[in-house]
Amino acid sequence: MAARLLFGGFLCLVLLAPQVASEFHVTLLNYIGLYAIVALGLVLLTGVGGLTSFGQAAFVGLGAYTTGYLSTAENLPPWLAVFGGSPWMGLLAGLLLTAAVAFVLGLLTLRLSGHYLPLGTIAWGISLYFLFGNLEFLGGHTGMSGIPALSLFGVELRDGRIYYYAIWAVLLGAVWLTRNLLDSREGRAIRALKGGVVMAEAMGVDTARSKVVIFLVAALFASISGWLYAHLQRFVNPTPFGLAIGIEYLFMAVVGGAAHVWGALIGAGLITILKQWLQDWLPKLLGASGNFEVIFFGVMMIFVLQRARDGLWPILTRLMPLRQVQRAVPQGAALPKKPVPAAGQVLLEARNVVKRFGGLVANNNMNLTVKAGEVMALIGPNGAGKSTMFNCISGVDSATEGEVLFCGQAVTGLNSRQIARLGMSRTFQHVRLLPTMTVLENVAIGGHLRGSKGVLPAMLHLERAEELRLLAEAARQVERVGLKDSMFELAGSLALGQQRTLEIARALCADPCLLLLDEPAAGLRYMEKQALADLLRKLRGEGMGILLVEHDMDFVMGLADRVVVMEFGEKIAEGLPEEVQRDPAVLEAYLGGVD
Ligand code: ADP
Ligand code: MG
Repeated sequence: MAARLLFGGFLCLVLLAPQVASEFHVTLLNYIGLYAIVALGLVLLTGVGGLTSFGQAAFVGLGAYTTGYLSTAENLPPWLAVFGGSPWMGLLAGLLLTAAVAFVLGLLTLRLSGHYLPLGTIAWGISLYFLFGNLEFLGGHTGMSGIPALSLFGVELRDGRIYYYAIWAVLLGAVWLTRNLLDSREGRAIRALKGGVVMAEAMGVDTARSKVVIFLVAALFASISGWLYAHLQRFVNPTPFGLAIGIEYLFMAVVGGAAHVWGALIGAGLITILKQWLQDWLPKLLGASGNFEVIFFGVMMIFVLQRARDGLWPILTRLMPLRQVQRAVPQGAALPKKPVPAAGQVLLEARNVVKRFGGLVANNNMNLTVKAGEVMALIGPNGAGKSTMFNCISGVDSATEGEVLFCGQAVTGLNSRQIARLGMSRTFQHVRLLPTMTVLENVAIGGHLRGSKGVLPAMLHLERAEELRLLAEAARQVERVGLKDSMFELAGSLALGQQRTLEIARALCADPCLLLLDEPAAGLRYMEKQALADLLRKLRGEGMGILLVEHDMDFVMGLADRVVVMEFGEKIAEGLPEEVQRDPAVLEAYLGGVD
């Protein structure tokens, strides 16, 4: 309620501002709007998706130059003539060109990891900037003038006070689209990128696609901002599309709160006003002219990164009366389920699996089976090769030799996404969840493959029925594992035991018939281990096959139906827990070993 009131007040301010503000302030607000549109794209790309781009200004330039050229060129080549003359066709052409360029650049640079990605964006950011400056038909470094004003329903938007409404309508529209996107199945897939590629892929997310999607959306937002800019200024030259401005855009997103849509607006507002103010005052204070504000911004950036990494928006929301409302448990029709295999049916069969890392044989001729309705434990000392085996089965890695069959089908060579689709779901030795998302949302990531609606329906909120069913399914899994009371808490606030349980719920949300758990009891207290064992017994009772990779002998012995023991990459024993426990080879290797 309070949030609605605040938003209503904000909208009134936005509507009234140009009526009361001075010409100078309206111009300032126009620029803030234009910058915020670009920063919003960076919120999605960098803040949420974790992909840093210094090159967004180049996409702004692409939008601005396309419409500039098309609306001023005297003699357009015939194939371009349809796009000439009208700013609206210029917008369409700009968006198409930006999408094409961003798609190619995205394919080339998004494969880069770590700091190579930002370096890549700097490279193409600079290249496009020089391209604008060196192409004769774009006016070179002097630029291009005579760009017509926009007109809407026969009204020319020449006056800054009127143009203001165009800019802010686009900005608010973009905010709406972005919020919708983030609050959807596709949005969860995008947010899952920060939990690491391995986790997201294991949940069925096509991470390469999600990255391209946010890269495209961010580029298109920038391009629209450029289009608006060109028809506001009615003149373009390369200066506002260079690397320095690209850095400034990124700075706006970071200062405002890179993971929050409204952070873009706060950041753009703050930086634009501050820059204006510093440009006025610093030369007076220092008695010399120069771009001193750049130094100030540099220092401020370091301060923000040190003291308020999440930016200003989270700090503001803490000050505002925005209470986190306890949301109702989502209700919705059940999603279709795969048939449950009969108890005792063989689900997984690994045959003579060999995995070599260079000269090291991490798995040598490993054989094992898991049946429906049983807990099969794979144990062995540290470094025995359990996780490697686990990765070969789940498609994170592929076996050097041998074969893995799942439900009778060869899955050797399939990737983890394809294997997840077949009904194998996993948890991680080191929990991989999104700490700033609620328990419910985290679990819903597991249901990714059970929905099908794409990015556009999500942005337009046309997938609400499917979304409700997905959330309702996630809620059922949260209840199933006993985390109902924490459903709307942030995953990061849970104790480790609950986080591991959350990972099991997330895996269950995929509707698997086989669960792969990598050391689920590691780091748990005694009571938590008991609760986990009870949960696994319950799932087994419901017909689930469970492959448990474990280090903790006591935990396994009370729970497993069958045990396979590994040492140095090989199977040294297999059988019922009590048999294995008495096996001299096991006692020697495992219990007697220094561990
Ligand atoms: P466990 O899970 O049983 O503790 P792992 O499967 O993690 O054991 O490791 C088995 C052996 O394989 C270890 O000697 C480890 O150093 C090695 N190993 C695991 N992953 C890799 C890798 N990606 N590259 C090289 N060696 C690896
Ligand atoms: Mg391991």
